[in-house]
Amino acid sequence: MPVTLTKMVDGKPAVNDTLENEQILQCSLCDEVYRLGYSDGEWNRVKDWLNIAERSIREDHKRKHRAESLDMEWKPMRRKR
Ligand SMILES: [Zn+2]
Repeated sequence: MPVTLTKMVDGKPAVNDTLENEQILQCSLCDEVYRLGYSDGEWNRVKDWLNIAERSIREDHKRKHRAESLDMEWKPMRRKR
């Protein structure tokens, strides 16, 4: 898995992974914080992953952020054909 989205608990990811790059994201509706981890090969798609991650977090907010890590589906927002 080249990209992971993991809940932060007490300043640490709830699940450890080996991805070397990270972005910290906060739920837009509450104080919950998530770590987006990604491999070097994904750096050029990070903007798209951030959009996808934000949507996943907002979805998870409805489920009260119980999951330790969230699934993300690769769905770029603005893709020109
Ligand atoms: Zn939330």
